[in-house]
Amino acid sequence: MHTSVSDHSEVALAFENHFADTLPGDQDHHNTRRQVTGACYSFVAPTPVSAPVLVAYSKEAAAELGLREEDCRSPWFTDMFSGNLVLADMKPYAMCYGGHQFGTWAGQLGDGRAINLGEVVNGGNQRWTLQLKGAGPTPYSRSADGLAVLRSSLREFICSEAMHHLGIPTTRALSLILTGDRVLRDMFYDGHPELEPGAVVCRTSPSFLRFGNFEIFSARKEYDLLEELLRFTIKNDFPGINESSGVDSYLEWFTEVCRRTAIMIVHWMRVGFVHGVMNSDNMSVLGLTIDYGPYGWLEGYDPTWTPNTTDAQGRRYCYGNQPYMAQWNLMQLANAIYPVVKEEKRLQEALDTYRFTFQEEWQRTLKAKLGLHTTEKNDDQLISSLLELLTKTETDMTIFFRNLAHLEMSEKNGDRLLEIVSDAFYAPDDIDQDHLNHLKSWLHLYRLRMRRNELDDEERRKRMNLVNPKYVFRNYLAQQAIDKVEQGDYSEVEELLDLFRNPYDEQPERQRYAAKRPEWARNRPGCSMLSCSS
Ligand code: AMP
Ligand code: MG
Repeated sequence: MHTSVSDHSEVALAFENHFADTLPGDQDHHNTRRQVTGACYSFVAPTPVSAPVLVAYSKEAAAELGLREEDCRSPWFTDMFSGNLVLADMKPYAMCYGGHQFGTWAGQLGDGRAINLGEVVNGGNQRWTLQLKGAGPTPYSRSADGLAVLRSSLREFICSEAMHHLGIPTTRALSLILTGDRVLRDMFYDGHPELEPGAVVCRTSPSFLRFGNFEIFSARKEYDLLEELLRFTIKNDFPGINESSGVDSYLEWFTEVCRRTAIMIVHWMRVGFVHGVMNSDNMSVLGLTIDYGPYGWLEGYDPTWTPNTTDAQGRRYCYGNQPYMAQWNLMQLANAIYPVVKEEKRLQEALDTYRFTFQEEWQRTLKAKLGLHTTEKNDDQLISSLLELLTKTETDMTIFFRNLAHLEMSEKNGDRLLEIVSDAFYAPDDIDQDHLNHLKSWLHLYRLRMRRNELDDEERRKRMNLVNPKYVFRNYLAQQAIDKVEQGDYSEVEELLDLFRNPYDEQPERQRYAAKRPEWARNRPGCSMLSCSS
C-alpha cells in the first residue's frame, strides 16, 4: 500500500525540507519510542492506511499551496494526505518538544501523532509546512497509538478554517480523510473503550514550532541547540529581526512572540473561543491558534466555563483565565531562553509587552464590540457592568452582542429594549424581575451613551457586526456533522465550511446555524464537554 516514488508526474506539489536540512536531527532512524537528545526532530514515515476516503478539503488552504480543485480531487491527493504516498523529495519527520502541562514540567512530549511531510513554497514565495495529524506512531508517541479519530479530526479541520475566516491567527487545515481503519478510544476515560473511525487531517502552517520546542533544550541544558533553533526561527519566520545580532535579536524575538500572543488571546476572548488545553506545548511561537483538542465556544457567558472535562476541577484553562495562562506560558518561554539571554531586566521588560498589548487591545476590542466610537470616562464602567450582568443569567454571548447592534437610540420603552436581546436568554421564564430591571437600566444607559456616539444606528450596527460574529462553531453543530459523516453523508461538512466562509454576514437561509444550543445538546457528550482523549 505504501508507495514511495521518485517520479509522480501528476503531483502538483514540489517539496523542500529546509527545517530538516538545516537543523540537527536524530541519528537513530528507527521508529521506536524513546528520549531523543541533541536533535530538533526524528525522521519517521507515516503509517500506511487501508482505505483512505477524502471527506473534504479546504479550497482556500489548497489555493495557498497553489493547488486547484482538480488536484484536490485526484487520487494522489488522498493518497498523499492520508500518509500512503511519500515522494522522493519528502523527508517526513516528527518534531521534538517538551512542555508544561497543567502547570507542571512534563519533560519530552514531541509530535506523538503528527508527521511533517515537508515544505511547499507557493507562487508568492511563502513557505508552508504540511503536517499530517493522526498518521501513526513516532518516536514521541510514548504510550499512545499515534492515531486520530473522526470526531476530533473533523472538529480540528472545520474549526481551523472557521478561525481563519473569523480573522483569528491560526494554523490551517487542508484536508480531512477517513483512513478506513478503526481506532480504539475510551472517550470518557471510564473503562468503556470503543472502536471509532480513524481519520487524518493535513494541517498547514508557516511553522509548527511551539514554546515547548525551546523549553526542551533549556531543560536539557542543550544551550547550543537552543541558540541554533532561535536563530533558525528568527531568520525564517521573523524577517524583520536581524538574527545575527545575538542577545538583542533574541530579546526582540521574544517581545514579538509576546505581542502576537496577546493579539491572539484578544481575538479568542472577542469571539468566546476557549482553547481548552493551553499547555506550553500547545502555544505557537508565531502567535497562531494551534492544536484544536477539547476546545469550545462560550454559549452562556460564563468566564469560569471550560469545555475540557480533564480540567473540570481546577478550571485552569477556562474562558476567563486564558489571558493569564498565556502570560504564564510566556513566562516559561522567558525562563527557557534566559540561559542564552542572561539579562533578567530586559527579559522582564519584553514580557511586560504581553500585558500592555493585551490590556490595550482588549479595551479597544470591548469598545468595538459595543460600538463605542467616541471615548467617555464612564465607558469602562459601562462595559464592566454589562459583563457582570451577562453572568447573572445564562445569556448566549454571540447572540447577545449580535442583537445589541439592533438597538435603536430613539427607543425609550424599556420592555422593547429588552426584547432586542431577549433571544439570548436560555431560560427566559426563570429570570427574576430584579435582573430584568438591571438589564433594562443598563440598556437605557447604553442607549443614552449611543446618542453621544457620533454614529447613526445603521453605521454603528455595521461596525459592531464586523467584530461580533453571527456564526461560531458551536459544539453541537460539530456533533451533528460528525454523526452525519459516520453515516456516510459528507454534505454537512461542506455546508459548515461554506457557512464559516462569511461568519460576520447575515445568511438568512442559514439562520438555524445561529441558534442557541438546543436543550438536547446541553449534556450530550461532544456537545458541551469534551475530554482530551482524541
Ligand atoms: P495534546 O495535549 O493533545 O496537544 O497532546 C500532548 C502530547 O500527547 C503531544 O506530545 C501529543 O503528540 C501526544 N499525543 C496526543 N494524542 C496522541 C496519540 N493518540 N498518540 C500519540 N501521541 C499522542
Ligand atoms: Mg498538542
